[in-house]
Amino acid sequence: MKQCINCTTRLSRKDVTEVAWCALCEPCLLLVADQMKLVHDRPGAAEVQIRQCGWCGTARSCGTGWRTRCLVCLDERSVPDPAVQENAHRLELGGTWRENSEFLAATTVKLRLAKYFRPGWTVLATDVHGLPWTGYRWLTKSHGTWGRNDETGEVERLKRVRGDATLLYLVRYGKVLAFGRGTEGRVGAHVAQGAVPVLVLSAPGERVVVARDELKRAHRGEMVSQRTPVDLFRVLPDGLDVTDRFLPS
Ligand SMILES: [Zn+2]
Ligand SMILES: [Zn+2]
Repeated sequence: MKQCINCTTRLSRKDVTEVAWCALCEPCLLLVADQMKLVHDRPGAAEVQIRQCGWCGTARSCGTGWRTRCLVCLDERSVPDPAVQENAHRLELGGTWRENSEFLAATTVKLRLAKYFRPGWTVLATDVHGLPWTGYRWLTKSHGTWGRNDETGEVERLKRVRGDATLLYLVRYGKVLAFGRGTEGRVGAHVAQGAVPVLVLSAPGERVVVARDELKRAHRGEMVSQRTPVDLFRVLPDGLDVTDRFLPS
């Protein structure tokens, strides 16, 4: 027996439809049948489509001929996932289970999109295996992250660019903090996604890597509760405070 990932109804194999990498039952499938609107069909002849959620506006990449649904939105048949609820508890979110799940999924997507920032490109959509249901970060299958060239309008699969990342940053996304290392463009991409810069320190790249790794060991994951003291100066004592560059002028 399999079970529907959205409502946990037990199903025989023939009653299961694969949607967004997961098994869904017929009633759950019907609820989201019209949810995703096609916005880019087979960019560059790749066997991929970019679809946008008509409920919340988040876009997702999907293999051609696959069924998918929004990375963020749950529905009235969804039931809470204990792993996601544990995450919400750790992050002290305090909303309903569904609000917390959707907030975590939306923030996970924004963090992913910001990582693909590249000058001259607009990042359009990604695909995070397991969303909107689970918080399992070790699931790595994906139809890729896609962006549009600002000059030519061409839509292509993006690779992560590891430029000269000389910044260690702490930003706030609503009720959570996120830290990382990156270029000015990366921090700017977080701000464009709605993040508020808390502290941004500049230092030589090798030192920023060591400092970020120390933060990663101290705090589980890249998202932490907004009450968690994340001390960038402790891990990067002579970092130069450049937060001003990212504040609205
Ligand atoms: Zn179901
Ligand atoms: Zn949605």
